[in-house]
Amino acid sequence: YPPERIRNFSIIAHIDHGKSTLADRLLEQTGVISKTSKNKQVLDKLKVERERGITVKAQSASMFYEYKGMKYLMNLIDTPGHVDFNYEVSRSLAACQGTILLVDAAQGIQAQTVANFYLAFGEGLQVIPMLNKVDLPTAEPERAAQQIESTFEIDSSKILHISAKSGIGVDQVLPAVIENILPPEGSIDQPFKALLFDTWYDKYVGVVCLMAIKEGIIRRGDRIVSSHSKTKYEVTEVGIMYPDPKPTTSLQVGQVGYIICNMKSVSEAHVGDTFYKEKHPVDPLPGFVPAKSMVFAGVFPLDADEFSKLDESIQKLTLNDSSVSVHKETSAALGQGWRLGFLGTLHMDVFRQRLEEEYNANILITAPTVPYKIKYRDGTVKFIKTPADFPDGTTMQEYVESTMEPFVLATMIFPEEYLGQMLELCTTHRGEIQNHTFIDESRVMLTCRLPMSDIVTDFFDKLKSKSQGFASFDYEDAGYDDSQLVKMEVLLNGEPVDALAAVMHKSNVVTVGRDIAKRLKEVIRRQLFDIIIQTAANGKIVARETVKQLRKNVTAKCYGGDITRKMKLLNKQKEGKKRMKKFGKVELPQEAFLGILSSK
Ligand code: GDP
Ligand code: MG
Repeated sequence: YPPERIRNFSIIAHIDHGKSTLADRLLEQTGVISKTSKNKQVLDKLKVERERGITVKAQSASMFYEYKGMKYLMNLIDTPGHVDFNYEVSRSLAACQGTILLVDAAQGIQAQTVANFYLAFGEGLQVIPMLNKVDLPTAEPERAAQQIESTFEIDSSKILHISAKSGIGVDQVLPAVIENILPPEGSIDQPFKALLFDTWYDKYVGVVCLMAIKEGIIRRGDRIVSSHSKTKYEVTEVGIMYPDPKPTTSLQVGQVGYIICNMKSVSEAHVGDTFYKEKHPVDPLPGFVPAKSMVFAGVFPLDADEFSKLDESIQKLTLNDSSVSVHKETSAALGQGWRLGFLGTLHMDVFRQRLEEEYNANILITAPTVPYKIKYRDGTVKFIKTPADFPDGTTMQEYVESTMEPFVLATMIFPEEYLGQMLELCTTHRGEIQNHTFIDESRVMLTCRLPMSDIVTDFFDKLKSKSQGFASFDYEDAGYDDSQLVKMEVLLNGEPVDALAAVMHKSNVVTVGRDIAKRLKEVIRRQLFDIIIQTAANGKIVARETVKQLRKNVTAKCYGGDITRKMKLLNKQKEGKKRMKKFGKVELPQEAFLGILSSK
């Protein structure tokens, strides 16, 4: 297949607008999967993804399609469906020349539609808008088309109306891709150059790299080099995804396919990296940035004896996800554990769920935090990923020049009647409103700069509840800015609990300090002595609560009585202790570590 008969495209959409359904339909139409196959949504492979209906890990597939008497090779490049993975989305987009922007005709444009459009537009891609779900009685295709026209300046008369579910209009989709999306550029005579845009670990063949071949040709036995690490590899297999890996004799310019070489772990395969042949070095493709963790949390085994088992499980899981950063951490309160870094909160939830479900791990996970940046007077800059490490007291006064936190630019779309509430929500979260515009007579698009820390905690939940679920939300990284940050410590009977320390803006100290103390009082069970809970910032006590001592012995009431009842009670108490961590003499339940930062 010469480049002019290849099309590399993707589908971008707000969640649930029908991306996976359309992908399935196209794969069926071209015979890659059978119509009767129960294995629908082949592109969403992880169990968690199927459960949540979102694509975390991108999966791509090739199709052969005949159009006007010519045979075409169509490569569908799937993109992850969540803002946490925006960098990976942009790299997947860099592997194609155009994209289908799928919009649910009943819901209209949503926040992710807008964010995805700009990502694709920024990559210089041809964007083909299509309205999906036109079979729904609630579909308003004209209205949605108007929104597309006014928001993206795309002629609404050119928009295809389809139903990925019922099949209406689906046979026009691949012709539209062929007609509107340019073939890939490049030449087979140039030295080999390829973009790595996705990778995973296969337990039989090892690390698999998906690459877009930008120039030249690659065969088994060739020796290739990573521009990023300069490491050399020998290619042991090349092929296309159909939809599972299918070996071919070569991969040529314009194609998208997989390469297996002797990589030991996915941490060697950097999304966005350029590969070339050992004998012909080339300039790397633009835009490579290593994955950046934006959310950190401490993970500890509930039972210290499970440390090495957990260590192994974490290693196995990160074998397939190099975007999780792992560092050992020791907490005075919780013992030996890890500080894990994730791309975002969904990424963290998925990892936690897999650890618990696939590896039966019993873990305690601390409240998530963002990486704070400290500029010292001597010019050094340090990132703080564990709140307990945040400077305070004299260190703060004498050595710190400024403290900074990460911000995001958020896009929200909602019906007009929620505008007042949404503006208020942004303001209470230290948001700076940038703009609000109407995308049609009754829907508003609001953009606002917000501290990332609030996104990590409870902003999204509040947005959903205040808008009765009608507001959609997406965000992009907006860099660091100076911010007056303070470390808050939690003291139990005078002893600071490092795992409960938190960093927050100065303006939140009093409210959050009181709230934390109150909430801890609710979750800490009464014990045989009084427990004094204090929160402190900058050496000053902000709030104080007391958990009164327990007077009665649980077994006292059946003293001398029924022994089985006594055993039952004791066992019940033991059960209750499972999810507890002992700190000094005080026992803390998981709830104390979770959600401590999210205000009510
Ligand atoms: P994704 O999150 O964009 O991948 O969306 P999915 O493909 O998982 O679709 C989300 C839901 O919409 C599923 O329940 C689909 O069955 C449904 N759906 C997708 N396309 C259509 C369509 O054209 N018409 C109708 N009525 N439902 C659809
Ligand atoms: Mg999907």
